[in-house]
Amino acid sequence: MPIKKRIAIVAHDNRKDELVEFLVEYKDILKNHTLCGTGTTSKIISEKVGLDVFGYLSGPLGGDLQIGSKIATNEIDLLIFFWDPLEAQPHDPDVKALLRISVLYDIPIITNEMTGKYLFSSELLSQSYEKKINIR
Ligand code: PGA
Repeated sequence: MPIKKRIAIVAHDNRKDELVEFLVEYKDILKNHTLCGTGTTSKIISEKVGLDVFGYLSGPLGGDLQIGSKIATNEIDLLIFFWDPLEAQPHDPDVKALLRISVLYDIPIITNEMTGKYLFSSELLSQSYEKKINIR
């Protein structure tokens, strides 16, 4: 893994405000990394947090799958995914695919503020390290 991490960011609608609050808190760390995200999430991040983010398609239109494919080709190192635990998504198969491929390729996933607290205090964030592909 490179020292400058490539971080993908996705939030479902009911958790976008929480994501913005979280990113504002960690903006000083995040600005040192390369960010991308699903369409609406990226737009909100650049408008409300002021970070540069490359935007893929909106999640329900294929954005989750685009990010999943980048994970499979070793172009993403960390995923921030604030998925909604209380509401079914029309693109649930894509959500599952993104989670599945992240686990397969050993990608750390921040799913809430507390995971973020742990991961962003990790020394690995500023180090290079080796990933393991989780195959039997
Ligand atoms: P969005 O997609 O950022 O375009 O809202 C998020 C998602 O639902 O996967």
